[in-house]
Amino acid sequence: MNPWAKHLEENIGEVLFDEATIAKRVQEMAQQINADYQPLNIEELVVIGVLRGSVVFMSDLIRQLQLPLTIDFIAISSYAKGTRTSGTVRILKDISESITDKHVLIIEDIVDTGLTLQCLTDLLQARRPKSLRLCTLLDKPSRRMVDLTPDYRGFEIPDDFVVGYGLDYAGHYRQVPYIGVLKPEAYQ
Ligand code: 5GP
Repeated sequence: MNPWAKHLEENIGEVLFDEATIAKRVQEMAQQINADYQPLNIEELVVIGVLRGSVVFMSDLIRQLQLPLTIDFIAISSYAKGTRTSGTVRILKDISESITDKHVLIIEDIVDTGLTLQCLTDLLQARRPKSLRLCTLLDKPSRRMVDLTPDYRGFEIPDDFVVGYGLDYAGHYRQVPYIGVLKPEAYQ
């Protein structure tokens, strides 16, 4: 076993969703998004990925969207180096193009307390998009602190700290192809 595989074995506990399960769910989500937007005959859907956790999910999802679309990215800091939300949100990188009068779909990796997405939607709504919807791969509804329901949601998960498929701990594990629970001893 190579050192990385050994590291994963030691630090990741339960695998919540393997590659095949994720792929199937992402396909279902894309089908739902296609079915919702195709009848609208829109000129352009602006798909905004929230950096950096959404990039793996977003790249898989958009390749199955049969709609005219452009992509953009926004970076927000919510967590420092720990596993709990700080309650404060800071924009590190704004989107590059105007979204005024555009249909916008925000792509997030996980909604936890909801503070990050609420702050982000308030900010983007102020720019008067034609429509604004939220799509998240994972949802931890038990931890919600604000009234926020994503329009598209891949999986509901319990209150565990998960990594993989774009989700990190201190910048690491994003390339892991499955989603697993980081063992508490790995960060405590
Ligand atoms: P919220 O503002 O909803 O509490 O936090 C959303 C952000 O917290 C996500 O974009 C993600 O960066 C981070 N986060 C929340 N729960 C987890 C988790 O279980 N694993 C990882 N890797 N990040 C998480």
